[in-house]
Amino acid sequence: MAEKMNRIAVLAGDGIGPEVMGATLQVAKEVEKRHGLAVEWKEGLVGGAAIDAKGKALPEETVELCRSAKAVLFGSVGGPKWETLPPNEQPERAALLPLRKIFGLYANLRPAVLYPELVGCSPLRPDRVAGGFDVLVVRELTGGLYFGQPKETTKTAKGERSVDTMVYETHEIERVTEVAFRAAAFRKKRVTLADKANVLETSLLWRKVVKQVAAKHPNITLDFMYADNAAMQLVRDPGRFDVLLCENLFGDMLSDEAAAVAGSLGMLPSASLGEGSFGLYEPAGGSAPDIAGKGIANPIAQILSLALLFEMSLGQPEAAQTIRHAVAGAIRDGWRTADIAASGEKKVGTQEMAKEIARRVALGTGKS
Ligand code: NAD
Repeated sequence: MAEKMNRIAVLAGDGIGPEVMGATLQVAKEVEKRHGLAVEWKEGLVGGAAIDAKGKALPEETVELCRSAKAVLFGSVGGPKWETLPPNEQPERAALLPLRKIFGLYANLRPAVLYPELVGCSPLRPDRVAGGFDVLVVRELTGGLYFGQPKETTKTAKGERSVDTMVYETHEIERVTEVAFRAAAFRKKRVTLADKANVLETSLLWRKVVKQVAAKHPNITLDFMYADNAAMQLVRDPGRFDVLLCENLFGDMLSDEAAAVAGSLGMLPSASLGEGSFGLYEPAGGSAPDIAGKGIANPIAQILSLALLFEMSLGQPEAAQTIRHAVAGAIRDGWRTADIAASGEKKVGTQEMAKEIARRVALGTGKS
């Protein structure tokens, strides 16, 4: 007997978004069957596709769809077609940022995993990443330099003067730190805070609040690292990190760096969470206009985003594990899209990769 209906807003967006989303929904259907779940996948317009059809990147009906849903499965937005629009109307800025704001999505989780079989995809020397690694970057998403006021450019006698403001309050730090510690409890139980406590006032507050939260989680080890050193350690020895906690700006940069050392953007999912179980799940990469429409994009980032959604918004960790095992099994048995294929390895397209993962989901444990 299927469980109660869960609605998920599916916003495929632009570029490779629709291709990888279509492929991912095939996997989702198999997961439902295997775990006896009933999910309503309801599609909506977002990004450039919404600009073309409705005149704006985030139409009101899309916001309503998201409000009526337990979570959002997001593809990617943007592309050359919309790059000449005024900055405030461009797909990423006019769709993703408002969605984060409307739903109070203050914590961004980006697992950067390098599978042992894909060590050759990492730009790092094989001895530095032997056996792969698994780092979770937890980034504060709604505060800090990107949102602090004043934020302006004014004319001066000699030219112009610009100011951005980095501001954090205790509660903003507390809630994202809780997310990081809760995640660490299911991992290697280590949290590292990347900050600039040597020069930034906000970093001193981060250290103070993070220590207070840590006191409530005595089984988790906490350490601190300057963000510039963290950037260096990520390329020297990424395996030394478990959960890397960062304020917004440092997290933006360090999560991209972690993604880069993990190899392909096509493998990396992300989750943006707020209060309660609502979340927005999307690949770490963008709309990849260079390969859009060719059927060669890697669907795994979107499929692993689906796994995070099952786990965090639908409370179905077993379904998430089924997906992860299926992905790991396909990788282990040599299934490769172009972005992760070594020279001479056989390449498959988006649909073939998703079909193989769906087949393994149906089997149950990633076995071939
Ligand atoms: P990108 O992430 O789209 O592409 C960077 C490189 O990674 C490209 O070579 C691309 O082919 C590759 N890549 C990304 N995902 C892949 C996948 N699934 N399989 C195989 N290869 C993959 O970044 P970009 O080129 O800087 O940006 C392109 C567009 O995407 C821009 O319009 C940008 O604004 C937008 N963007 C959107 C989001 C989002 O929707 N969240 C995020 C980043 C960029």
